[in-house]
Amino acid sequence: MQTTEHAVAISGLEKRFARKQSDEVSLAVDNVGFTVPRGGFFTMLGPSGCGKTTTLRCLAGLESADRGEISMNGKAVFSSAARRDVAPEDRPIAMVPQSYGIWPHMKVFDNAAFPLRYGRKTCSRGEARTRVLAMLEQVGLSEYADRWSTQLSGGQQQRLALARALLCEPEVLLLDEPLSNLDAKLRAQLRAELRSFQQKFGVTTIYVTHDQGEALAMSDTIVVMNRGRVEQIGTPDEIYDSPASRFVADFVGSANLVPGVADRTPRAGDRMVEVKTALGVLRCARFATPPAQTGDVHVCIRPEHVRIVPATTDTGEANRFPARVTSTEYLGDRREVVAAVGDVEFRAHADAHLRIRPGDDVGVVLDPEWTVALWS
Ligand code: ATP
Repeated sequence: MQTTEHAVAISGLEKRFARKQSDEVSLAVDNVGFTVPRGGFFTMLGPSGCGKTTTLRCLAGLESADRGEISMNGKAVFSSAARRDVAPEDRPIAMVPQSYGIWPHMKVFDNAAFPLRYGRKTCSRGEARTRVLAMLEQVGLSEYADRWSTQLSGGQQQRLALARALLCEPEVLLLDEPLSNLDAKLRAQLRAELRSFQQKFGVTTIYVTHDQGEALAMSDTIVVMNRGRVEQIGTPDEIYDSPASRFVADFVGSANLVPGVADRTPRAGDRMVEVKTALGVLRCARFATPPAQTGDVHVCIRPEHVRIVPATTDTGEANRFPARVTSTEYLGDRREVVAAVGDVEFRAHADAHLRIRPGDDVGVVLDPEWTVALWS
């Protein structure tokens, strides 16, 4: 019986590793906590070394955390306080490693059937055969059942790995950068495929990637990690449109960042924050809460929310400044423009056919509705 709306809950997770050739230890996972809604696609996103894989391995039971709690379906599978650490095979999970873990000496059918023959939920030969063939059909591999697994393409191998994992009937599917070995075109195709399989089977999925495009395209929820810590948890548009820190603003998408000082600490219900910067006062409709007590902030605006306008005299419009074009690049679907307001350069996405050249005087408008004040 399902007892909670969360398939997974982690709190206060810590994992230390001894540094090679020294007595020091480093904190690979530092007080990480999050909950994963049932049936959702949940992504851990962050740069190399930020602790994603270690967190995933702690979930799988392949790594034992130093502190913290992990529960699955409301049952503790790890608790440092209660000295509980359930073995990987007794956790309701299946994991697809980066390399897919497909056995080259076995045929496609035998690879997929492996968990039903030797896993925690074995069944009769006849039933196993029926279930494997049905699953291969679902992932579009029925005609490959008798081929050697080495004869499959990269994308087909991924589907086989997924089929085998789903045959374990896991409550939670753990995927560690499954697209990282593929070329860019195949990656884009397979990420859509992976997402549609996840929705079709409705299995709670925890996905690890350092690719922000992949995370935005596939996820219901993203946790952004940095140096072993959680920076922000949110839906893709919350993460992209309202980043909570400079790190998130910079790592997810590209951001124009300007340092400044906020006029005051915003209160609940405030519409705008005003920030004094080298350009002048910037009005920001977005701000992460709760902010620190200091007024030091960075203002963030995405290039698509910077408008290039004619260099007319002051119109009184908020966040409008005179600027000079530094460079422009035609990209087919848009023109990438860099324009300097004094010493501060802004990257803007303009109409592909805008007639503009380096040295031109223009105006830039930083749309206040999309301007974010960041306190960290
Ligand atoms: P990547 O995307 O490169 O896999 P990641 O975000 O998954 O990175 P982890 O693999 O979790 O990061 O590593 C986090 C930190 O822990 C890194 O500094 C790494 O060097 C260290 N680390 C991970 N595993 C071990 C280990 N077995 N022994 C020592 N240090 C480790």
